Amino acid sequence: MTNEARAFICPVCGVPSKSDVHGTVVQYDPENGPPAEFAFLQCTHGKCQAPIVQVREDYGDGFEDDAPGIFYPSKRRLNFAVPRELRDEFEEALTCFEAKAYRATLVMVRRTLEGTCKDQGAGKRTLAENLRELQTQGKIDGLLADWADLLRVVGNKGAHFTGEAVSAQDAKDALDFAEAFLDHLYVLRARFDEFKSRQSKKANP
Ligand SMILES: [Zn+2]
Repeated sequence: MTNEARAFICPVCGVPSKSDVHGTVVQYDPENGPPAEFAFLQCTHGKCQAPIVQVREDYGDGFEDDAPGIFYPSKRRLNFAVPRELRDEFEEALTCFEAKAYRATLVMVRRTLEGTCKDQGAGKRTLAENLRELQTQGKIDGLLADWADLLRVVGNKGAHFTGEAVSAQDAKDALDFAEAFLDHLYVLRARFDEFKSRQSKKANP
């Protein structure tokens, strides 16, 4: 096991990399599936140098028989307060991004936005109109409305043939903004409303 080196695609910078295994830990809890071996690695590419933990499972033929999966950094998961259908759309956008399908990432981000408008009760014809309706209803404002509109424009680029390539950075930004948008609408807003009602109860017991 010592001095073992592994080749992998870095989950952080996306570049093929090779790393020594800096240590392993084996965990086995029969109630939680087969024995699992966690290996600590580091991306060796340029400035990235990201720490990575891979996991392999032993289904009876040893860890060597299993293709390593990424344990850390873990996949992003949206808060469960975000409706299931929207989490599904967003996860598919993530899957597209991981497969380096950047146009498809933008298409899925756009679908996530469309689904969000529908879920929030905006029933207009186009995404632009629906976003304006959410703004009129006071559900999104200021910076969030700007983000949403930018995502819409960028999403158009993914959905229609322009002959233009979509960069990894644009796709990543679209994902990050979409995540923040959902988080804002479904998680922070709800928490803020609860916070406000606690404060007003304290003020008028
Ligand atoms: Zn890397």
